[in-house]
Amino acid sequence: MTDLTKLTIADARDLLKKGDITSRELTEAHIEAVEAADALNAYIAKTPEMALEMADKADAKIKAGEQTGMTGIPVGIKDLFATKGVHTQACSHILDGFKPEYESTVSQKLWDDGAVMLGKLNMDEFAMGSSNETSFYGPVKNPWRRGDTDTVPGGSSGGSVASVAGFAAMGATASDTGGSIRQPASFTGTFGFKPTYGRCSRYGMVAFASSLDQAGTITRTVRDGAIMMESIAGFDAKDSTSVDMPVPNFEAALTGDIRGMKIGIPQEYHLAGMPGEIEALWHQGIEWMKAAGAEIVDINLPHTKYALPTYYIVAPAEASSNLARYDGVRYGLRETVQGGGLVDMYEATRAAGFGDEVKRRIMIGTYVLSAGYYDAYYLKAQKVRQLIANDFKRAFEKVDAILTPTAPSAAFAPGEKSDDPIAMYLNDVFTVPASLAGLPGSSVPAGLDANGLPLGLQILGKPWDEETVFKVSGVMEEAANFTAKPTEWWR
Ligand code: GLN
Repeated sequence: MTDLTKLTIADARDLLKKGDITSRELTEAHIEAVEAADALNAYIAKTPEMALEMADKADAKIKAGEQTGMTGIPVGIKDLFATKGVHTQACSHILDGFKPEYESTVSQKLWDDGAVMLGKLNMDEFAMGSSNETSFYGPVKNPWRRGDTDTVPGGSSGGSVASVAGFAAMGATASDTGGSIRQPASFTGTFGFKPTYGRCSRYGMVAFASSLDQAGTITRTVRDGAIMMESIAGFDAKDSTSVDMPVPNFEAALTGDIRGMKIGIPQEYHLAGMPGEIEALWHQGIEWMKAAGAEIVDINLPHTKYALPTYYIVAPAEASSNLARYDGVRYGLRETVQGGGLVDMYEATRAAGFGDEVKRRIMIGTYVLSAGYYDAYYLKAQKVRQLIANDFKRAFEKVDAILTPTAPSAAFAPGEKSDDPIAMYLNDVFTVPASLAGLPGSSVPAGLDANGLPLGLQILGKPWDEETVFKVSGVMEEAANFTAKPTEWWR
């Protein structure tokens, strides 16, 4: 009997269609795998009964000839997406006990297609972090280890990548504000896809930085990413920044043909001090693209060096405003002070409810938005954000896609950067520019470092041209032929 948890979504879709397997069988195998993967701490809430009910419905749908790409496919949902009646806390203590009255559009679209929910996935608190060490529910472990030692899965979508790399979900929803889909995908040998800002609805996503937040997917293959993205993308009147554009058939973009396509290599991404292995892999990626018939073009993105400081002003500013709503009155945790008033309650609740990194962001955000500093920091950052977007616009007049490393390192050890926020923020150096510009991007597993840890390459595209990102990702996946798997030490 084949291990059903090792199938790709595309393979499972075909087997379901032929009636060789049922969603119930597939779901039962995954419920077991979720249990067996407890050591990864990827799931913070499990929903096995719901999953079986959804699987039976999916089987009926398939029998009725109504199968779509995600019908009957067991997935995990990042704890950032509101799921009706089910734990939704963005892995923060301040949302203690919160179970929403409504469903996020992204998860609803999956359920409408007949996908099956295995549970809610761990993440950095309010999606702030690059290592999944800031969750109130404890850190997530990367299925990939350095010898016998643990590594972080990246963040903030650490539970999403660990569940998919650890064969405890066929796919997972994730969100990317400054790299939270692409960087953890790179750390775990998974395929991460972040669409254009506005492609997916933010309705029902716990807000971090609203002008940057975008939903996307984690899967084991590029084709699976295309199938899952197809399900969650699309206009939604309930999100004023969602854009009314037709959703192309992403899977159809996987033609394997990039002949004559122009791929840009940004010179500013050759960072001093970047590990030689990552430079070498990038170079290898360039060679693969050439061999597939693409033309390589050197490009310049001159404002790249300002992207990190710009992001770490804009994102905390928006976060400080978004997180003002957690006051102990409306939902979640409430800490009262004996003999104290309303303000004491606010203060005690926020002091107890937010973790250190979230407090740091609120303080930075409040500072850069305050009367005396607004022009010097926030306004300046907004202007630089535009310059960064213009850099990309100019580059995309010459090229169809851009190729870079996803992250400047492989997965690091727990605790290695958690006391040094700047070192942690630096890990986002290659992902934040595209977030500031709202561009679609992916991370494709491309190789292993000397310690046997996965490394990804990032592919960026023009706004609304997800198809090219998928197409190039598919060719990269084929060339890299990344077949390595983590040893299943957690089972
Ligand atoms: N690591 C970045 C941060 O901490 C990005 C997080 C994200 O994309 N949600 O803000």
